[in-house]
Amino acid sequence: MKEILYRSTRSTEGTLKASEAILKGLADDGGLFVPVEIPKLEASVEELSKMSYQEVAYEVMKLFFSDFTEEELKNCIAKAYDSKFDTEEIAPLAEVEGAYYLELFHGATIAFKDMALSILPHLLTTSAKKNNVKNKIVILTATSGDTGKAALAGFADVEGTSIIVFYPNGGVSPIQEKQMVTQKGDNTFVVAIEGNFDQAQSGVKAIFNNKELAKEMDEAGFQFSSANSINIGRLVPQVAYYVYAYAKLYAEGKLSDGQKMNVVVPTGNFGNILAAYYAKNMGLPIDKLICASNDNKVLYDFFETGCYDKNREFILTTSPSMDILISSNLERLIYKIAGEDAVKNSELMNSLSTTGKYDITPEMKKELADFYGNYATEAETAEEIKGVYDRTGYVMDTHTAVASCVYRKYVADTKDDNVTVIASTASPFKFTRSVMNAIDPKYDSMGDFELVDELSKIGNIKVPNAIEEIRNAERRHNNFCKADEMEDIVKKFLFK
Ligand SMILES: *Cc1c(COP(=O)(O)O)cnc(C)c1O
Repeated sequence: MKEILYRSTRSTEGTLKASEAILKGLADDGGLFVPVEIPKLEASVEELSKMSYQEVAYEVMKLFFSDFTEEELKNCIAKAYDSKFDTEEIAPLAEVEGAYYLELFHGATIAFKDMALSILPHLLTTSAKKNNVKNKIVILTATSGDTGKAALAGFADVEGTSIIVFYPNGGVSPIQEKQMVTQKGDNTFVVAIEGNFDQAQSGVKAIFNNKELAKEMDEAGFQFSSANSINIGRLVPQVAYYVYAYAKLYAEGKLSDGQKMNVVVPTGNFGNILAAYYAKNMGLPIDKLICASNDNKVLYDFFETGCYDKNREFILTTSPSMDILISSNLERLIYKIAGEDAVKNSELMNSLSTTGKYDITPEMKKELADFYGNYATEAETAEEIKGVYDRTGYVMDTHTAVASCVYRKYVADTKDDNVTVIASTASPFKFTRSVMNAIDPKYDSMGDFELVDELSKIGNIKVPNAIEEIRNAERRHNNFCKADEMEDIVKKFLFK
């Protein structure tokens, strides 16, 4: 098998093996690791269509993580995609009004981040072993809600690791917050910061880039790594479910071999849709990549104008996991459409950090023809939830509803009738209040768990375990800090 190496989007020299890139998370120069080449799928659609989710995941990951042995990788996959998921299919498709909702929320924390974060701890600890790393791996994560809990659940009590999660105080849903602050595991630490998600993320990046701190940590037997979607060990496992969805649709006779499908992805940090782009580059017959935003429509404006501009009001919406003004993973796409030119990419990223914006060239913009961007307002998102529920009984969460609404706009705009997969990124039980309010404002007077039971009734869906678990769970984390105190609190936790 061909060896795939990784390099930073911001430097022209030096490549790393997959396991080394996974361990580092972010490159020393602040860039993201990208495969020097995107491998082509080896298995045929016919073969893939007979495989389980785990087998498809192996087919995809073995190509990217070429320095892992078959045994190592299969072990990681088996530990990740097991009975933590409430369905054997792992990522089932629901056909609703002619579109296919790829339900990525059947894992431990009922959101799509589980797809990658259930395997990342195992990829990381395997990578550490392969590279003779003796330090304890300290995961630092900024979260707008879902990553935090999924990472905590993935890493809790995994030997040789600690995990520290920062979230914006008041910037996540009550259920998301409760999920995080009740997290068990002696190696877990959860902190609410006074600030928004972008400040949390910038704070984490500053800690990663602090060389002095890294030295101090190393002497104490620690090293930082990231569970944010910038880690290549998160991106690659996400490629698998697009391949799986295609194979599944083929198996069910909904697609013929080679027939194009579109994907719609509710987007924040640009990880999930980038995974679909990688799947396309592997040879999966994906046509359009439809990027759906909420009112924080930086990406829509970018696809329209070629100017990425984060200088705007940050809007809190009912789809908080997409309330993001700096989509970190977009850098990997920028690097690609700049002709893999690290110097050019660095210039643009520099401009982003100094002026808050950058413009791509007309040639680069041409390379974005596969993408279509649009957005859904708060009112449109609520209408989408209600409309689909009233017509079909299917209840979707707010993030999925943004995608579903944008899908309708796309079809109205283009009349494109390709088979379409909509990434369904969270269970409606994760955003119960917003979902129920969209269906009927009368629900607003109910308590959080009363609403959960009501949703279960009207949607005819069993309350997921992830929710049952926190119903009566005790708060275990009570840490708050200012955005500029993040480094201090990290030290306090590690050196306690
Ligand atoms: C994280 C998240 C998103 C956004 O995914 P990105 O990979 O960051 O673009 C969308 N929906 C939900 C529910 C999420 O948790």
